[in-house]
Amino acid sequence: MKKILKKLSIMYMFILLFFASTTVNSMAYHNEDEEQLQTDALVEKLEQQIKNQKTQAQAYSKTGFTVVIDAGHGGKDSGAANDELGFEEKYLNLDIARAIEKRLKDKGVNVVMTRNSDVFVQLAQRAAIANGLGADLFVSVHNDTQTGNGDGSHIIHSVTDNKGGMSKTLATNIGNSIKNNTSQNLRKYNPVWSRYSSNGTSDYYAVIRQTKMPAVIVEHAYMNANDIKAVDTPEKRKIMGTAVADGIYNTIQNNFGGWMKYKGAWRYYDPQDKTKAIGWELISGSWYYFDDTGIMQTGWKKINNNWYYLDNSGAMQTGWKKINNNWYYLDNSGAMQTGWEKIDNLWYYLEASGEMQKGWKKINNNWYYLDFDGSMQTGWKKVDNIWYYLETTGEMQTGWRKINNQWYYLDDSGAMQIGWKKINNVWYYLETNGAMKTGWLNLNDKIYYLKGDGSMVTGSIVIENKTYNFNENGELVKN
Ligand SMILES: [Zn+2]
Repeated sequence: MKKILKKLSIMYMFILLFFASTTVNSMAYHNEDEEQLQTDALVEKLEQQIKNQKTQAQAYSKTGFTVVIDAGHGGKDSGAANDELGFEEKYLNLDIARAIEKRLKDKGVNVVMTRNSDVFVQLAQRAAIANGLGADLFVSVHNDTQTGNGDGSHIIHSVTDNKGGMSKTLATNIGNSIKNNTSQNLRKYNPVWSRYSSNGTSDYYAVIRQTKMPAVIVEHAYMNANDIKAVDTPEKRKIMGTAVADGIYNTIQNNFGGWMKYKGAWRYYDPQDKTKAIGWELISGSWYYFDDTGIMQTGWKKINNNWYYLDNSGAMQTGWKKINNNWYYLDNSGAMQTGWEKIDNLWYYLEASGEMQKGWKKINNNWYYLDFDGSMQTGWKKVDNIWYYLETTGEMQTGWRKINNQWYYLDDSGAMQIGWKKINNVWYYLETNGAMKTGWLNLNDKIYYLKGDGSMVTGSIVIENKTYNFNENGELVKN
């Protein structure tokens, strides 16, 4: 596990260096105040780059609970500043972030830092790191602009949790820990709050909007002469970071375990060790499938070359299942079946797409008839007023066929024939039930004679010691 994390962090450092060297428009102001809605596509691109660099084994291994700590600003972006006192926000943030990192690591939590030095990192990249690694929580570390009367810490959560949810819980727990464990107080109005973007539906702050896991921005102190006292020495920043870490850790211990829904996506955490389910997981008697970032999947899903169907609740389905008006059969392991399948002693045919077939079906050059319920038919079968004969193996028969000691003739389409029928230049007569006639036949005041093999007689023939004459149409000629 450690090895994987080490690989991830090496890989991440590489990506970071790449972006640090990329020229980006100057954002030398307090840029968590930017909406940056236009960068959402960029996040996806960056996130994919991080995912692509994980091997399959890395992607589908549990890495333990992972928190991304995001020290705000950095490099050319100083964030807020108090010039008189000589503070730049980016340095305060990094100190606090490092204290959070240390405390959480001491408690056995995986921590990934979006930056661990004075470098510039795009907001989109910060979210992409957390998304790409499938982190469980995201905490962005900031200090607020210097305003005259700004007083106290405040924490911003996602608007999706306005009525409660993990980001609001996290924000509340961090606030309580700051209040209880540092000299800093919380802001009097809205110490825990959220902000809508101009579109009125998503979050205003990019790192909260673009992250897929519960995320908060902690504004530890206003950088005015009074409030900055909460973080104006390395020792105070360490105390502050430790308090924030304890708020995070309490959240992991007390609020995680079992199902967690965030921004419409479900995840599942082990109640004991708090690891997130990845891949297949058996929960309360049902199987669920989670992608490589731990998000529960629904609908059709191809996994290791088998198709599975996960219903709206995510539960893997087995047995017969009607989906979009087609029937599918999923075996005990949930794998969608194709081809011939014997189920409860009946045969069914399932297309390569898994769809159960009905009616006539040509398979390997043989025709089969599958009933309205999909079951393969055998023996005599009347379809659209025509009789067909299907072998015990289901294959439709053609030509002469002896069934229960009677001969029948089934044409090329398999249809049972009745009446006069000329086959290989010989006439036969098939009764209304299809049975080939032999012996005397009296039909429409005409008399015919059919030999033991069913062939109609013409010309002269001796029957029971008596000579009869038949014309070329097979009609008995009266002497
Ligand atoms: Zn800031």
